[in-house]
Amino acid sequence: MTKTYEAIVVGAGPAGSVCGYTLAKSNKRVLIIDKEKFPRPKLCAGMLTEKSIKMLKTVFGRINWDEIIDSSYNTFEIYHRRYGFINRGISSRNKLYLVDRRIFDNFLLQKAIQAGCDFQQKNIVDLKDLKADLIIGADGANSVVRRSFTPEINRRDYSLALEIEAEKSAIEEIKYPRIYFGYVNYGYAWVFPRRDKVVVGLGGLTAKNKENMRDLFVNFLKDVLKTDYRTYRILGYPLPFHNFINRPIQDNLRLVGDAAGLADPLTGEGIYYAIESGYLAAQSIYSYQPIHQAWHRAKTMRNIFYSPLFHLLIIHWLKADQRLCRWYFDLLSGV
Ligand SMILES: Cc1cc2nc3c(=O)[nH]c(=O)nc-3n(C[C@H](O)[C@H](O)[C@H](O)COP(=O)(O)OP(=O)(O)OC[C@H]3O[C@@H](n4cnc5c(N)ncnc54)[C@H](O)[C@@H]3O)c2cc1C
Repeated sequence: MTKTYEAIVVGAGPAGSVCGYTLAKSNKRVLIIDKEKFPRPKLCAGMLTEKSIKMLKTVFGRINWDEIIDSSYNTFEIYHRRYGFINRGISSRNKLYLVDRRIFDNFLLQKAIQAGCDFQQKNIVDLKDLKADLIIGADGANSVVRRSFTPEINRRDYSLALEIEAEKSAIEEIKYPRIYFGYVNYGYAWVFPRRDKVVVGLGGLTAKNKENMRDLFVNFLKDVLKTDYRTYRILGYPLPFHNFINRPIQDNLRLVGDAAGLADPLTGEGIYYAIESGYLAAQSIYSYQPIHQAWHRAKTMRNIFYSPLFHLLIIHWLKADQRLCRWYFDLLSGV
């Protein structure tokens, strides 16, 4: 017999795994589907903010951070193509954390599986194949689930982000994460040093740039790399940079994370919003759960309390034992 699920989550990025985990913790039967086999690479600079760390604590409680954090910095730099360094090594009270998405996303998925989610590797092309009370679209910026939504997200407002991963020797010595302005309109470029590698990227609104984004990225790479940029494979992926869907709820469908268009319009940060929306979606679906649980207990009590034979007995016990009367009074007064 095929197993039935109360919720199917399409996509095992941060949004999908957090949503699945939270639903499974509420005793829901959850299936997470992803087209990739995990661990899988994910094009991303992997920067987590302090609020992402807080959010992860809210969702999972204690976490062994060594398992997921590659490096952390409370210092960063800003460079402008025309004006040079705007600052070198400015420190802040807050930290920036870098993760490798292959490790990070797999960590979150394993948490969801440990909480009771089933996982299946499958490329979803048609929602008709999915049978569950609830379908969560956590399938990223090119979401298939979102196609059932009207109106769809305006894809022209998408930003494209491009990246390479290079060995540290390919770049002048860089100690801290560095943001570069002046290479792209309505966006920025970056060099983020991880423990073993550097992540070099550029992202911005395509509609605000006359030149092809790849050409802009190549110009940037020529400036920052010591080696020939052609040695690296340039990969690009859309970023929903302020074109969120206003109502990410339709029938039994919900959208979370990039599928709902949730990346910060100013910074492009998307991981935090993926985690938060995954968590909120799961919570909102079953937010009456504590009340319902209490009511299940009360219903059992009611059936005992009012069953004709037992009720007579209880009335006699109440009369005979003041402690029982007090218990009933406490119950009535909601203690
Ligand atoms: C180059 C680049 C750099 C970035 N850097 C940062 C950064 O430093 N910090 C930050 O906060 N954000 C960054 N972002 C944004 C961030 O990557 C996303 O906002 C975040 O990954 C969204 O998470 P998600 O779970 O919604 O979707 P995703 O992480 O995209 O996960 C979606 C999942 O769905 C699966 N999937 C897709 N289609 C299907 C299908 N048809 N069937 C089954 N499975 C499917 C995919 O395989 C994937 O595993 C960056 C983005 C890019 C492109």
